[in-house]
Amino acid sequence: MILVARNAGIYVIKLGTSLITDVNTNEIRIETLNSLTDQIARIKDDKSIVIVSSGAIGLGLHSLGELRRPKEMAKKQAAAAVGQNILMNLYEKLFNKRQITIAQVLLTKDGISEEKGYINARNTIQTLLDYGVIPIINENDTIATEEIQFGDNDNLASYVAELVQAEMLILLTDTDGLYTGDPTIYESAKKFEIITEITEEICNSANGTKGACSVGGMQSKIEAAKRALASNVPVMIASGFEKDVLFKIYEGKKCGTLFLPKGMKIDE
Ligand code: GLU
Repeated sequence: MILVARNAGIYVIKLGTSLITDVNTNEIRIETLNSLTDQIARIKDDKSIVIVSSGAIGLGLHSLGELRRPKEMAKKQAAAAVGQNILMNLYEKLFNKRQITIAQVLLTKDGISEEKGYINARNTIQTLLDYGVIPIINENDTIATEEIQFGDNDNLASYVAELVQAEMLILLTDTDGLYTGDPTIYESAKKFEIITEITEEICNSANGTKGACSVGGMQSKIEAAKRALASNVPVMIASGFEKDVLFKIYEGKKCGTLFLPKGMKIDE
């Protein structure tokens, strides 16, 4: 399965919190991250890579000795401030040993909603890519308030994919795609391999994944997919735990759920 790409060149890869830390023990998933950064380093010979990474709040809470996610906004924002630093240190170590320079880019929704901010962000990211740097993007959680939040990083990643006119938006999570129901509950649940239109049935499937680790996850991924498709960017939802997942996507092998924008075809 080979994608006939319209905007060859940039992969926007979103890594969810569950791939960065174990939600139960709060331990960093170093093996998973090692494998993913290794694949990214090799794909980078051919594609420009932009990473959208979650994990700041989780890492920060752990470091502050908070066992549960607090309700207070200020505490979550403080945790993000602590954790963002830890997150970037982690990526720096992982990419340094592969001779890759990374950059931290923190965005806010209102910042890129204005034309000037939008253009500045786009130019900065493009310039980093021209230098061969991997921009690692997160929301600037310290100043975002509920009214002006991206909400979640799936959403943020879809804005970024639109901003850079990505060849593909890859949402890596802990499940290997979108199913007709929660596969951990319903044995008969089937995976959607290719989606050409986000129908009500598709939306209901995402709502029906109650109990799965990625509950809210799938809903926000569908929302993100809608936005990306509207900008003609195909979207892949796949598991970051699957062996060689990024190579498989790069080589057009079967994996995950692929959303195709109108008019875009794949060669079988
Ligand atoms: N910006 C948040 C963090 O780094 C993540 C939000 C999300 O995963 O949707 O912790």
